[in-house]
Amino acid sequence: MNNFDWNKISTPAYVVFEELLIKNLEKLKLVQDKTKAKILLAQKGFSMFYTYPLLSKYLYGATASSLNEALLGKIMKKENHIFSPAYKEEEMPLIIDTVDHIVFNSFNQWNKYKDLIKQTNKHISCGIRINPEYSEITHEIYNPCAASSRLGVKLEDFESIEGLEGLHFHTMCEQNSDTLYRTWKEVEKKFSKYFSKIKWLNLGGGHHITKDDYDVDLLIKTINEIKDKYNLEVYLEPGEAIALNTGFLVSEVLEVVHNNIDIAILDTSAACHMPDVLEMPYRPNVINSGKFDEKKYNYRFAGPTCLAGDIIGDYSFDKPLEYKQKIVFTDMAHYSMVKNNTFNGVNLPSIVYVDKNRKIKIVKEFDYQDFKSRLS
Ligand SMILES: *Cc1c(COP(=O)(O)O)cnc(C)c1O
Repeated sequence: MNNFDWNKISTPAYVVFEELLIKNLEKLKLVQDKTKAKILLAQKGFSMFYTYPLLSKYLYGATASSLNEALLGKIMKKENHIFSPAYKEEEMPLIIDTVDHIVFNSFNQWNKYKDLIKQTNKHISCGIRINPEYSEITHEIYNPCAASSRLGVKLEDFESIEGLEGLHFHTMCEQNSDTLYRTWKEVEKKFSKYFSKIKWLNLGGGHHITKDDYDVDLLIKTINEIKDKYNLEVYLEPGEAIALNTGFLVSEVLEVVHNNIDIAILDTSAACHMPDVLEMPYRPNVINSGKFDEKKYNYRFAGPTCLAGDIIGDYSFDKPLEYKQKIVFTDMAHYSMVKNNTFNGVNLPSIVYVDKNRKIKIVKEFDYQDFKSRLS
């Protein structure tokens, strides 16, 4: 974000830029325009509902992983979908009331709830998640096709799909359209015998559509192949791709300690505010920094918690860091706010929106009451 004055931001804060969201949404709209596919926001990746009115101008709706997310998805006032590995019976009436598409993870779940769904006076389009037994994800914690996976029905376990209107697969993570194309070919080989009986195919998330090197043309070709060959409505439900590179986590230097290397303690924490840094794991980029030893002054960035491993990464700078200097982490809109926590009582970062005229709006600030209210 060139020429934005980060000193205007009280830290820590997630700062999301409208101009960057619009850039992503325009790219997604292009895919929709050239394919007539419907793109939904997977809220588990990004749920800053302050932006939903903007998102709903471009997208067809939202998808949820839980009743809470489904209720939030209503703010979009568009299509509202849900998938869960297993639904709670007590929640089902409200889920039915809230959504218009339900994806089931097993025939047992579908059979359990189909009568309840039939009895309601609105039409709910139901589908089943398949496990195509093909995924190019190598990190097992993110691989829904790993051995003994609970996610999706394998071809050998298929039952009658009467009453179901769609199939859903989600087998990708941060991948390009060549992976999608190969996955689609596997899905087609195994499941095309059901395509004449259904109306839609949901290609899940994990499509890195808004990344610079993403091959949009191959995505468009793949979707159009599905539509032309089988006359199916196609859904995509990316989370990350919608908010990719649209937000920053702004923090400041609290202290520098020395133990072999200089360690800067920040007012943000990997464990609390960017848990994917430890979970994936990965090293987030910092504006105006280099890799360790690339520039003159090296620092390790660490959080203010008691967790020894609350380490964000190693960086280098042209000048020594100063007390209260702003440290800006890039690409912090997705899988950050939705996963953060108050471990050690560390306060949550504020949520800030910068509109396309660069007007700064503090959307939400957190304090002691937010911390306390979850604990008893
Ligand atoms: C996680 C998930 C998504 C979104 O994935 P991204 O990697 O954020 O695009 C979509 N659908 C389902 C079923 C998911 O579990």
